[in-house]
Amino acid sequence: MMRAKRATDVIIAGTGPAGLTAALYLARADREPLVIEGDQPGGQLTTTTMVENYPGFEKGIMGPELMDVMRKQAERFGARFKSGTVNDVDLSGPPFKITVGEDTVECQAFIVASGASARHLGLESEEKLMGKGVSTCATCDGALYKGKRVIVVGGGDSAMEEATFLTKFADKVTIVHRRGELRASKAMQKKARDNDEVNFIWDTVVEDILDPEKDEVTGVKLHSKKKDETTQMGIDGVFLAIGHEPNTAFLKGHVDMDDHGYIRCERDCCRTSVDGVFACGDVMDPKYRQVATSVGTDCRAAMDCEALLSA
Ligand code: NAP
Repeated sequence: MMRAKRATDVIIAGTGPAGLTAALYLARADREPLVIEGDQPGGQLTTTTMVENYPGFEKGIMGPELMDVMRKQAERFGARFKSGTVNDVDLSGPPFKITVGEDTVECQAFIVASGASARHLGLESEEKLMGKGVSTCATCDGALYKGKRVIVVGGGDSAMEEATFLTKFADKVTIVHRRGELRASKAMQKKARDNDEVNFIWDTVVEDILDPEKDEVTGVKLHSKKKDETTQMGIDGVFLAIGHEPNTAFLKGHVDMDDHGYIRCERDCCRTSVDGVFACGDVMDPKYRQVATSVGTDCRAAMDCEALLSA
């Protein structure tokens, strides 16, 4: 089907590495893509410090700077940006109808690059103390805990990596894991286990974080599943490393997803179950979640999208 060039050929949801790569490719294809910024413009990298594993930067580059440069590069070729978050879609077209706040914009193709957000424990105290002793990013906040006591919640690679990293600053680092066995890779486990400054508490869940009344973290209530008892532990910081959730709630019922909400892309990597709707980056990648892989999938999505638009 011929899809003529219209006011908005393509909308891209997300301004992390994935969204900005698609924006760059489609802007260079003269599609003037409209990029929806999302509730965290620049994505997760804006909350990190030095990125050392993205090729092209011998000495590394700061996450926020990398995102700034990527955005400027896409803008230079005509990408347009709109603040806000996609809250509804009608994918019965094309044209597809994408609603951002009060506005609904039509497009011929839609690229979902809305990323993933750190999972929370679901405690009221956790939300109240987020940014005040509770963190989802050791790289960002670790240096604030010099000489302090922290726990890291989780048993995956992130928990091992964050706990090991935090020993550079904190006096005491304890991993609290809900099972007696780690999910992390053998190499990452070894690194954490071999570090004398990393302690482990097994089969235990965080029941509550103290003390919202004081507006700071003073301790945690820990429930041992094996002993079926709750104890209190004095600490200064809680780092959550319990995985991420893809930001795909607005697409539920519109495109195929797996049980965890990751978009299924079975055809040519980035095509979703709806013709003309593409997904790339963390929304369709529960495993690798790297800047380099994000950029790679989005380049493919943008090229497939351009091929569809010019068919
Ligand atoms: P993950 O592998 O999904 O691990 C999440 C951990 O948090 C699991 O141990 C899980 O427990 C625990 N958890 C989940 N929900 C919880 C809850 N509500 N309460 C308490 N604990 C909870 O996530 P990840 O560690 O962020 O890793 C994600 C992906 O990125 C993986 O593929 C990983 O290999 C990759 N990664 C790689 C590196 C690296 O190679 N440098 C670094 C970081 C991440 P259970 O084990 O009981 O399910």
